[in-house]
Amino acid sequence: MSPRGNNRDDPRVAALAAAFDRRTANAAARPGGRTADPARPPTPPDDVGLIGRPTAQRTEILQALADCQEFISAQLLHAGLLAAGSRVGLSTVYRTLTALAAVGRADVVRDANGERLFRYRPDDDHRHYLLCRACGISIPVDAGPVETWADHMARTSGFADVQHTVELTGICTGCTTAARAGN
Ligand SMILES: [Zn+2]
Ligand SMILES: [Zn+2]
Repeated sequence: MSPRGNNRDDPRVAALAAAFDRRTANAAARPGGRTADPARPPTPPDDVGLIGRPTAQRTEILQALADCQEFISAQLLHAGLLAAGSRVGLSTVYRTLTALAAVGRADVVRDANGERLFRYRPDDDHRHYLLCRACGISIPVDAGPVETWADHMARTSGFADVQHTVELTGICTGCTTAARAGN
């Protein structure tokens, strides 16, 4: 992960800004309409309604998270939104992401610095990921045994609303190769 405070150099910020620009241009071309980009279907409004009143800023944050398609910190997502001309505040981004996680529309892991990273979850099925501590790439992993165990504990413990968090991190093949080449 890149250190904090250096967001402008992160390629994800530029990518987010570009995606945001495309949507804004599309929306402007169709007055009163949502995005017309067929490659990026608009986020179902239901999703933003899950966390309260569907304000423009919440919709903007949710759409940016969905566009990102990987784990991202609130700070980085905020930087991407600002780079795209948004005026949303960091605390709003953080609150929205936390709320999305609470209603099951975002998966959350922590990076090596303990910072929370969020990834849009398009359906009710939560997923587990293997996250690279060096570059932040994430791949979904099969967590069948974890789910079976968690279901069993929930059924037999007497606890209600049992939830679980499983975080797998490592160094991906690409980063391992790059590190070897650099030595
Ligand atoms: Zn990596
Ligand atoms: Zn699970």
